[in-house]
Amino acid sequence: MADFANVQPDEYKLLGCNFSAGRPFGIKGVTIHHMAGDLNAAQCNSIWAANGCSAHYSVDRNGYIVQHVNDTDRAYACGDGIGTGGGNDTTISIEHANSARGPWTVHEAAIESGAHLVAALCLYYGLGRPAWMVNVFPHKHWSSTACPGELAGSQRDHYMQRAVEWYDAMVGGAQPSAPTVQPAATPAAPSASQGAPGGFPRSTGARVPVHYSLHLKGGGWLDEVTDFGAGDDGFAGYPCRQHDLLCARVDRGTLKYQVHTVEDGWLDWVAKGDRNDTVNGCAGIAGHTIDGVRMYYVTPSGEECKQAWYRSQTTARAGWLNTVCDDGSTYSGDDYAGIYGEPLDRLQVCVTDGVPW
Ligand SMILES: [Zn+2]
Repeated sequence: MADFANVQPDEYKLLGCNFSAGRPFGIKGVTIHHMAGDLNAAQCNSIWAANGCSAHYSVDRNGYIVQHVNDTDRAYACGDGIGTGGGNDTTISIEHANSARGPWTVHEAAIESGAHLVAALCLYYGLGRPAWMVNVFPHKHWSSTACPGELAGSQRDHYMQRAVEWYDAMVGGAQPSAPTVQPAATPAAPSASQGAPGGFPRSTGARVPVHYSLHLKGGGWLDEVTDFGAGDDGFAGYPCRQHDLLCARVDRGTLKYQVHTVEDGWLDWVAKGDRNDTVNGCAGIAGHTIDGVRMYYVTPSGEECKQAWYRSQTTARAGWLNTVCDDGSTYSGDDYAGIYGEPLDRLQVCVTDGVPW
């Protein structure tokens, strides 16, 4: 049982990386996040170890609180820079387990523990009674993201009410009234990327090699990747950074692709990959942030039909989003990779005859 009076978690699983030591800007608030997934602490750590991000606490679907980065250090959680005086510098970040895809409903037990932890942090660090945008901030206050989903939407008032009730009770040395516990949410269905749902054949391994690369916003082209390696290796992009151009080509047939940017929406389709031709040879606009990708593979006549399968990650959340098949929404329900408003930071593509992951 967490010791809220002394802000001690149920357990420590310190990540040991992805933070900046010290609090030169002080502690001025709490930032709340959703995981955009139903994860436990070990899963959070393995994702963060790979993507360069972190948070101070995770709260799982059962309300179990684990500390990953000490309060006295600055976690890489809010998508803003270290040393700028923003959310990473001045706040303590809490991740909450929720449903694995939209509408991102956060589990009731996670709300109850998270709100209690917010109250404990506000009291311990002298931040005052929990108040939205005063000392409790949504991740999206600090950077462009959908995080914390429903905690800044339909579940916000309930969460803040419980935080205030816990704070008042702790100040008074009492227990607050029992929460109106809603039935625990049913376990989220496995993510589409974890298996081939019925009716969708797995890839036989037959591929048309696809070569693709992303261009760093304000930087240069990153290394070109062919298909992808084992696990999460072999992706285009740079974790936690923003990208503005995409270039992709296939050895046979035609790969059409288009990108969506935060500034412009969907841009025109491109059908060839040539980094030196920024008009027709790649998709995107220099300096504009890619937050969506769509692809379509045209099989050469006489060959077995293949499709482009692709998926992405964003700077705002951990883990791969749903795998997308180029025939639109029939596989995962998604017809593009990405989430509008969240900078895309990693992309994987494979041209093959079935579900590749
Ligand atoms: Zn977040």
